[in-house]
Amino acid sequence: MPILVQKYGGTSVGSIDRIKNVAQRIIEKKLEGNKMVVVVSAMAKTTDQLLDIAYQLSKRPPKRELDMLLSTGEQTSIALLSIALNELGHEAISFTGPQVGIKTTGIHTKSRISEIDGTRIQNALNEDKIVIVAGFQGINENDDITTLGRGGSDTTAVALAASLNAECQIFTDVDGIYSVDPRLYPKAKKLDTICYEEMLEMASLGAGVMHTRAIELGEKYNVPIYVSSSINNKKGTMIKESDNMMEGPAITGMAINNDEAMISLNHVPHNIEFIASIFDALAKKSINIDMISQTSPKNNQVSISFTLPKEDLLEGKEILNSYIHQYPEIHLTVHKEITKLSVVGIGMRSQSGVAAQMFMLLAEENIPIHMVTTSEIKISYVIQPEDQQKAIQKIAETFDL
Ligand code: ADP
Ligand code: ASP
Ligand code: MG
Repeated sequence: MPILVQKYGGTSVGSIDRIKNVAQRIIEKKLEGNKMVVVVSAMAKTTDQLLDIAYQLSKRPPKRELDMLLSTGEQTSIALLSIALNELGHEAISFTGPQVGIKTTGIHTKSRISEIDGTRIQNALNEDKIVIVAGFQGINENDDITTLGRGGSDTTAVALAASLNAECQIFTDVDGIYSVDPRLYPKAKKLDTICYEEMLEMASLGAGVMHTRAIELGEKYNVPIYVSSSINNKKGTMIKESDNMMEGPAITGMAINNDEAMISLNHVPHNIEFIASIFDALAKKSINIDMISQTSPKNNQVSISFTLPKEDLLEGKEILNSYIHQYPEIHLTVHKEITKLSVVGIGMRSQSGVAAQMFMLLAEENIPIHMVTTSEIKISYVIQPEDQQKAIQKIAETFDL
């Protein structure tokens, strides 16, 4: 019998009725002849609420304790789903990440799955049980519970599918991957397929529909990932290898990120070792710097701007302050509200002029650009949040997204 790994996100298990609906869908697939492994997230808003309580108690809760706390959200939903399935007459058993040998590595709240020992899952499947696994969590080398970063249940599902050699289906509150987040641009088009490379860029640039690491694992272990709705049965999107379409459009999608902040440092001495040491200190704390721009030296000074996740802003600022106090002339400014808008497409490899066209479109709309970065298949712009909707509309219409 084939193994099918399904994952249901927070909204999909957000109420008693939703849990019952998910249980029915699982039973349907089991009756079609699949061995079922189901990953679930915490019920809608639970993770946010837990975080909120922690931050009311402390501005800086220890990350180990945050992991201990956040992992309880998933522990609740797996038990509830298992109860619902058993009630419907289908034997199910729930497991936390540590119970099924999901080993993790790296720092708390941002850890990565290093290996999975699937024995316990296989044993339960052999007993004809439906296996429910808590997403987003595992256990590290110190036997402590860790979490995989926000949205990490997708990664649990793909990692399990890879280790069990199974098919992977992700069910969420949209019926697939759209060219643009449909909440921001309701006219966006649903994509039948998208290749790993493009989806990886979209996810890492802010399309929150999939966890970035899930796509990395999908690509690495060649697990096609089917994304669709947990509510209706509309055809979803398959994330898979590129089929090398020769004449695809230049741009496949657009991603918007409002979760980053920008820090600017002015009057920085033009001392490469000093500048490198700042970025090194940030990297050592796993603060992921995304875009960087630096002006050319003037009077032996430069200005540097970079973006970082908002959640790392406090820690990032502290690190910077500890470095720059030796140079009182350095001036630090924080731009907490920025929009990073990116366009993504493997078609850009063979079609030139997209960057030029984007500059032109933003200029026509009088939208100031604060930073730009490009890679082979993406272009990102930092703009002001108040220009976001205007920019999305103009770009989506021009590129028929
Ligand atoms: P889940 O709780 O099921 O993991 P998420 O909230 O993490 O769900 O992801 C689903 C949401 O992702 C959608 O509601 C949608 O607003 C958002 N989203 C962002 N970009 C896209 C996109 N390109 N296509 C589809 N949904 C997107
Ligand atoms: N519950 C976690 C979160 O809200 C993980 C997930 O939903 O994938 O980020
Ligand atoms: Mg998610």
